[in-house]
Amino acid sequence: MMRKILVAANWKMNTTPTSAKKLIEAIIKEHDRGIYYDILICPPFTSLGVVSKHIQNNDIALGAQNHSQHDNGAYTGEISAYMLKDIGCKYVLIGHSERRVLMKESNDIISEKFNTAIAHDLIPILCVGETINEREQGLTKAVIQNQIDIATQGYDFKKKACFVIAYEPIWAIGSGLTATPNDAQDIHSHIRSRLKIISKELAENTQILYGGSVNKDNADALFSMPDIDGGLIGGASLDSSGFMAIARQKNK
Ligand code: PEP
Repeated sequence: MMRKILVAANWKMNTTPTSAKKLIEAIIKEHDRGIYYDILICPPFTSLGVVSKHIQNNDIALGAQNHSQHDNGAYTGEISAYMLKDIGCKYVLIGHSERRVLMKESNDIISEKFNTAIAHDLIPILCVGETINEREQGLTKAVIQNQIDIATQGYDFKKKACFVIAYEPIWAIGSGLTATPNDAQDIHSHIRSRLKIISKELAENTQILYGGSVNKDNADALFSMPDIDGGLIGGASLDSSGFMAIARQKNK
């Protein structure tokens, strides 16, 4: 089975509804002119509405960057999975390292969110990755394995694959440093081999994205690796032409 390449934009806490409208319009204009991999845009909550409206006639997907582990109720300031579903989201980022580190999200909370996303028919993009210290101590694979094992606790693996994993080494996010295509491939193939223990079908169908300072100059080499099925793009996704250069289709 051929996995498709997915190029996902994480706009983080950037854009107002006004600037998001300009950015999505520029993306759509390019999209109409060329052949692209599957594209996903994850704007901040306040820009979801405007992006959702603009992509209605395009096959660009919408995702959020986070949601509550709760469905509704007295959780002031929170946004739930079914609110995201109603506004047109198909995907949600779960366990981004900025949330793990800055918002102190634990693996257990991430597991609740992962399962909540699936319960509401959203596709979670589970973000995993090691710190520079963990890498230097040779702990990368163990750390990632632990993050995946805990997040997917309670998940019924007999269901058909409906989640994505994003391998994002923390030291590579927003730093300009990228894992080499070979180093990233090594981790991706490790993740896939672990999924294979659960089922061959799950391993073959699950998209594993790479994230960490991907840009138009390094994307092709990364995406050409056999177990890298696209990217999660932060900084470089805020520039429409740079982002669309990453997303332009090439042969794998
Ligand atoms: C990210 O936030 O998921 C990310 C990969 O950011 P950047 O591309 O800026 O490193």
